[in-house]
Amino acid sequence: MRLLAHILGMLWMAHGLESAPPQRFVFVEKQMGADFRIVLYAKEAKFAKAAAKAAFDEVKRLNAIFSDYEAESELSLLSANSGKGKKLSVSEDLWTVLSAAQCLSTQTDGAFDVTVGPCVRLWRIARFRKTLPAVDKIAAAKLAMGYQKLLLYPEAKKVQLKDQNMILDLGGIAKGYAADKMLEILKEKGMLSVLVDAGGDLALGDAPPNKKGWRIEIGGRKHPDLPVLELANCAVATSGDIEQFVEVDGERYSHIIDPRTGIGLTARLQVTVVAPSGMQADSLASALTVFGPEEGRLLIKKLSGVESYFVQGHAADRTLTRIKAE
Ligand code: ADP
Ligand code: MG
Repeated sequence: MRLLAHILGMLWMAHGLESAPPQRFVFVEKQMGADFRIVLYAKEAKFAKAAAKAAFDEVKRLNAIFSDYEAESELSLLSANSGKGKKLSVSEDLWTVLSAAQCLSTQTDGAFDVTVGPCVRLWRIARFRKTLPAVDKIAAAKLAMGYQKLLLYPEAKKVQLKDQNMILDLGGIAKGYAADKMLEILKEKGMLSVLVDAGGDLALGDAPPNKKGWRIEIGGRKHPDLPVLELANCAVATSGDIEQFVEVDGERYSHIIDPRTGIGLTARLQVTVVAPSGMQADSLASALTVFGPEEGRLLIKKLSGVESYFVQGHAADRTLTRIKAE
C-alpha cells in the first residue's frame, strides 16, 4: 500500500512537472566581437542553462576556425599560405562556409567575395583614423582580391589561395553560420522554442508557446511601412551602414565594400533578408547591400524561400522596396 502511494505520488509529481508552463530564459555573451543572445522556453532552468552553455561553447569553437583577428585560426593559416602553391585540407565547418561563399560569389559575379580581406583591413584603419584609404593602397589591395583566385577542391576538401597577400574575411557570412550551428545544438539538447541572435544575425526555431512566431522588429533604419515580422523556423539578417562606417566630407562609407571598386558603399542602403538558413540570410544581406534593389531583384527571383526589405536614402525621403522569391 505504501509502495502504491509512493508510486502514485511520483506519478503526480511527474504530471505536475509535465503540465508546468515553460518559462522564458535569456542568455547573453560577447562572442565573435558582438553581443550574442539566446532566448528559449524551457521547463527547467538547469536544462536551459546547460543547453545555452553548449551553444556558446560551439561559437567559441567556430571562432577559433573563422576569426581573421587570431593569427592561429584556421582561416588565418590559410591566408598566411597564400601564393605558396599549397593546397591545404580544411575542417568541415570551413569547407561548408567557403563553398557557400564561392557559390554566392558566382551568383553575384563577385559582389559578395570573401577574398575582400585586404580592402577590409584598409577600411578598418580608415574608420579608426577617420580618413579615406590612399588610392594606391586600394589599387594594391585589389590586386590581392578576387574569388576566382580562391580554389576549392571538393574531392579532397582542400583549399588553395592562388596569389600572394590574399586575406580571407568571413565577416559577411560566419555569424549567420554560427547562428545555425547554435540552433542545431540547442535542438539536440531538446530546446525547440528558440531564438538565436548572433550579433544581429538571427536563427529561429519553433515559435514561443501559443504564438505563431517570434516577433521580429527590423532594427536600424526606420520606415513607416516596415512590417513587424512574425517568424519561426527560418533566419533573418540585416546589413547596412548603420553601425560601422567612416564619414568624410559628408559622405558615409560603409564597412561593406564593393569588391569591384574596393570602396566602402555610400548608397545609404540597409537590407534585411529572411531566408531558410542563417548562413544564407547573412551572406545574402551583404551581397544585396552591394547590389541594391534593381540588381538584387534579379538575384532574389532565382532563389526560393527568400524575402527581402531594402530601406534606402536619407531620413526625409526614404524608400522601402520589398522583394520576394516566387
Ligand atoms: P555585420 O558584420 O555588421 O553584421 P555584414 O553581415 O553585412 O555586417 O558583414 C559585413 C562584413 O563582411 C564586413 O565587416 C567585412 O568583414 C565583410 N565584407 C565587406 N564587404 C564584403 C563583400 N563585398 N563580400 C563579402 N564580405 C564582405
Ligand atoms: Mg551579412
